[in-house]
Amino acid sequence: MKLKKAKPKKSPPRTPRIKKIAPEFDALFQAAAKCKLCPRMADQLAVLGPGNGPRNAKILFIAEAPGRFGAGRTGIPFSGDKSGENFETLLAHAGLTRKDVFITNAVLCNPLKDGNNSRPTSAEIKNCSGFLRSTIDLIRPRLVVTLGGVALDAVNRLLQTRYQLKADALRPVTAPDFILLPLYHPSPRVANWKRPLRLQKRDFAKIPKLIPGKRPEAV
Ligand code: SF4
Repeated sequence: MKLKKAKPKKSPPRTPRIKKIAPEFDALFQAAAKCKLCPRMADQLAVLGPGNGPRNAKILFIAEAPGRFGAGRTGIPFSGDKSGENFETLLAHAGLTRKDVFITNAVLCNPLKDGNNSRPTSAEIKNCSGFLRSTIDLIRPRLVVTLGGVALDAVNRLLQTRYQLKADALRPVTAPDFILLPLYHPSPRVANWKRPLRLQKRDFAKIPKLIPGKRPEAV
């Protein structure tokens, strides 16, 4: 006699997991989303939110600004354009993933001139420095990696230092609350003319050595 197979019981539908954002991060994200301090970026989306990385990351990357085809479009730092592709390559070369790092920019919105990406002005970097300060205070990274001269200028403003990319790139320095490592920006322009990706891979390989011990856990 054939036994009938018991039908598997249907499990109840899962309630979607909502990731909780700590209130202080939420307040910072909201403040950035509402900010209109820079006239030419008043209509732009500030790229600062859970997509920037885990809030307990031990490594904070600071780049220049969201790019027109990258973060300015996708809302995720270093995603959607060639700079993002290069960044991912370099990160993987250092044995890291996005779950290990938080990424932000000297200015949170995309500075456009005649429809193209442009360098943020020092007034704009100053306007946005409060957001950078708060991000560092909340993340409390052990290592801050600046990518390019604009990011280094933004950190100089906070630390009241005068580091320069030309003289200080690749030289880790101890700041009061973290180690600072100035590196080059992974944009195609820099990779083609200033610091080839081959050498930038070597630069990124320094990163894990400055953060000994266990990998940070993602939240
Ligand atoms: S770049 Fe920074 S300061 Fe300027 S509008 Fe965007 S969020 Fe505000």
